[in-house]
Amino acid sequence: MIVVIKQNVPKERIDRLIHRIEGMGLSIHYSEGSSTTILGLLGDTSRIDERTLLADDSVEYVRRVTEPYKAVNRKMHPNDTVLEVAGRKIGEGYFNVFAGPCSVESEEQILMVAEAVKNAGASFLRGGAFKPRTSPYSFQGMEAEGLKLLMEAKRQTGLPIVTEIMSEKHLDLFADVDIIQLGARNMQNFMLLKELGRSKKPILMKRGLSATMEEFLMAAEYIYAGGNENVILCERGIRTFEPMIRNNLDVSAVPLVKTHSHLPIMIDPSHAAGRRDMVAPLSRAAIAIGADGLMIEVHNNPKCALCDGAQSLDLYQFTSTMEDIKKRVAFEGRELQTAL
Ligand code: PEP
Ligand code: MN
Repeated sequence: MIVVIKQNVPKERIDRLIHRIEGMGLSIHYSEGSSTTILGLLGDTSRIDERTLLADDSVEYVRRVTEPYKAVNRKMHPNDTVLEVAGRKIGEGYFNVFAGPCSVESEEQILMVAEAVKNAGASFLRGGAFKPRTSPYSFQGMEAEGLKLLMEAKRQTGLPIVTEIMSEKHLDLFADVDIIQLGARNMQNFMLLKELGRSKKPILMKRGLSATMEEFLMAAEYIYAGGNENVILCERGIRTFEPMIRNNLDVSAVPLVKTHSHLPIMIDPSHAAGRRDMVAPLSRAAIAIGADGLMIEVHNNPKCALCDGAQSLDLYQFTSTMEDIKKRVAFEGRELQTAL
């Protein structure tokens, strides 16, 4: 249920109304836009009579929200959420490219890739230290040592870091990470979602391999309504019957999210494709449909990559793809965020 407040109502009267609603056993998501203040009522609103709220002079109108996601629902928060992370703006009107290797493999590798993606125009360095691998026999990532190397790359290049967490037990290790990635396989790891909701770190949450839009937004709701409003969504392809491509990029996810939610959404063309020749065309599609950015896998020597080499661009391919991305982003009137 949402309660839209009349214009120019003094804050004390809104606070009194909030107090009354909280007394009914509900919690409030408060959203103050440029012209409208909206109270989102969280909890079981089934027994609340709209008329008792309408009786308050501060209230313009009351609406029931039928979708189960409330706090991330655009009805609760009509303005787009734009986050500011390490001086870069993420959300509508801006465009970010997060780039780097699937996994951190050595100091030399991560420093070389970090320098190259920075020069090409990426705004964040992305690299995996804890890797969710389908096979227990595959390389599992450098773990804590990989995080240290990412921090060294940040120190040398100034690029902020995006890296994946696999367990809430590791949160302390992520203290200096700028954006914590929640991988597709963990989108419904509810304990982890709750802990990320308690943290204040920006979270890049990837869509599960077979998650519906509602499940995707409900997972975001865990984090956002749990207390952490710094959530960025990422569409990375869903599993279909098509074997020629690793996943199918669901381009409709972007306009659907933008219609139903206020959160930023990025596209990961690398995991959607599983093959490097598709990364540039899918990136063009991402810009055309209004995605807020891209996350692209880049490796200094993809043939020898320990993880996801087939979908990784080499440094030259990434640089030329970025030249094309920059032109298209400028044409769409969005502001590319880069190294500062
Ligand atoms: C990744 O970003 O390296 C990754 C494992 O992605 P996903 O969770 O989308 O499979
Ligand atoms: Mn990968």
